[in-house]
This record gives sequence, structure tokens and C-alpha cells, in this order.
Amino acid sequence: MLFGDSPSPKLIGIAKLAAESELLESKRRVQYFELATRRILNRTKPGMPFTWTINPYRGCEFACKYCYARYTHEFMGLEESHEFEDKIYAKGATAELLKRELRRTPREEGIAIGTATDPYQPAERRFERTRRILEVFAGQRGRRVSITTKSDLIARDLDLLREVRRGNVLDVNITVTTIDIELARLLEPRAPRPDLRLEAVKQLADAGICVGVFPNPVMPAITDSEESLEAVAHAAKQAGAHWFGGGALFLMPSAYQVFLPFLEERFPHLAGDYRRFYAKGAYLGSEYEEHLRQRIKALRERYALASAPLDYRPELWEEDEQLQLFPLQ
Ligand code: SF4
Repeated sequence: MLFGDSPSPKLIGIAKLAAESELLESKRRVQYFELATRRILNRTKPGMPFTWTINPYRGCEFACKYCYARYTHEFMGLEESHEFEDKIYAKGATAELLKRELRRTPREEGIAIGTATDPYQPAERRFERTRRILEVFAGQRGRRVSITTKSDLIARDLDLLREVRRGNVLDVNITVTTIDIELARLLEPRAPRPDLRLEAVKQLADAGICVGVFPNPVMPAITDSEESLEAVAHAAKQAGAHWFGGGALFLMPSAYQVFLPFLEERFPHLAGDYRRFYAKGAYLGSEYEEHLRQRIKALRERYALASAPLDYRPELWEEDEQLQLFPLQ
């Protein structure tokens, strides 16, 4: 039970499971719960570059002011916006569920880990749900797996990531919105510093893991200057990143409700402009997005960074296929 309350009779689905979750731990103002789930792989809508997503946690302690994922949690019945970052749900039985579901998932269908919440947020240090998932992928062959994070904790799993990469196509995306430590602290109050994330990029690249850097979301008049984006691209290249991308901030109503008060407090001179920018909807519009695309493209060319992960034949997969073609006598 959550706080000893009886679940509301109106709650159904994941909101009901969340309300019934067992308290794992409580520290400072963050509480951790075990979330019983029936599935670990979630199918995406058509048009995405991957077919399945895995999010080992619900809620994200990093508390980024712009977080787009808040709206994916609205249906959990979290009433206050801060509950997204203060009530963290660790999914249970992740490895067992994944093993079972992979049996009926075609190998060519891409699987993205960490699309709605960070798989290496602080809870991972204690509960290791992401590590359990990687252990399953380390035993797989020919899968296409990607991981997105803004945490240097990913470097803890270098041994496993190497194993996953030997049998599968693995790519890692690290988010670095700015290299300005003070600005990052304002925008992403509980996330690791950008220099620590870049150090993780270096460790991954040195270990032979394909890694890219994204300055997402690019925020108008905050992180979108030529100078700011160039500093991230330059640092990414120096750390050994292979690719670099970038997309503009979008603000669904739940993110808007957190981001606008933040702007009013910290960047009051921008609040009016943002209200105007986002008056018509969550997205900035094609003119800004095209301008940003061109700026990112120019940076890629300047720093010889690719636009997408590299494709390669994993070593063990290749060996397995050879054995199937020419079985040992
Ligand atoms: S790390 Fe990602 S999911 Fe977590 S709060 Fe920040 S933007 Fe949201």
C-alpha cells in the first residue's frame, strides 16, 4: 500500500498497480516503490526508429525542468507535478519478464532502453533493474538495442555492455544539454554534472561501445546559441563520441506547467517569449526546427561526427551464423 491508503475504487491498470506498490525505501523526500508489472517490452507507435521500449523505472529523480516524460506518467494518478521525481517505481521481475517476452520478439525489431525515464537514475545504484536487463541481453544474439541516459552510472556496467555488444548491435546515447555546470544544475537539478557524463562517453568509447551525444532538448535562448551547441559538439568529439544529434524543446501541458514557473523564477526575461513560442502547441514550428537542423548539421561536419549510430556485425552473431552455415563435424 502507498502511505497506507486504500486504493481508490476508480483506479485501474497501472494507476492501480502504482497505488498498491510496496515501499522499497524512503530517502530525503524521495520514496522508492516496487511496481508489479505484467510486461517489460512496450510496443511503440509506427514511425519510430525502434519497435519496443523498456523503461525499468517509473518516475525520474533527475527532475529536469523541461522533462517531456511527465505526460507519460499522468495516467498513474500522480496528483502533484513533483511526485514524478519524488516517487520512483522500480519494476519487478524485469529479467524474468524480458526473457519470456524476447522468445516471441523478432530479432530485427529494435529495442530502446530509457525512452520515458532514465535507466541510470539514482535508484539504479540500489535496485539494479537496468543491470538485470543487460544481463539478459548479454545472452542474446543479433538484437538491436539502444540505451539513452544522462547518467555517468552507465560506466558501472561497462563489462556487461561489452558483452551485449559482442552479440548484438548496441548503441548508447548520452544527453548533454550544456557544458555549463551552473546552467545544467538549474535545468537538471539532480542529474550528474555534464563533465561526468562526458567522462562516461570517453569510458564507453574507449571500451569500444558505439556512443553518441545529444544536446536535447535544445532550449531557445538558453542552450541554442552557436557557442553553446558548438561547445557540446566539441566536447563530444574530444570524448570520442561517434554521432551527434539535436532536437528542439517540446512542451506538453504537464511539462509546460513545470517549465514556465521555472522560467519566471530563473529567466524572467524569457517567460513572455516562451509563452508566445508555445502558444499554439507543444512544438516550436518548422522554421525554428529547420534552422536548428542546419546548425546541428554544420557542427557535425565541422567535427566529423555522424548523424546516426554506426551499423556493424557483432562478433559473436557472425560466429554463430558461420557455425550454422558450416556446422562443425
Ligand atoms: S533524465 Fe529524462 S526522464 Fe529523467 S527527468 Fe530528465 S528528462 Fe525526464
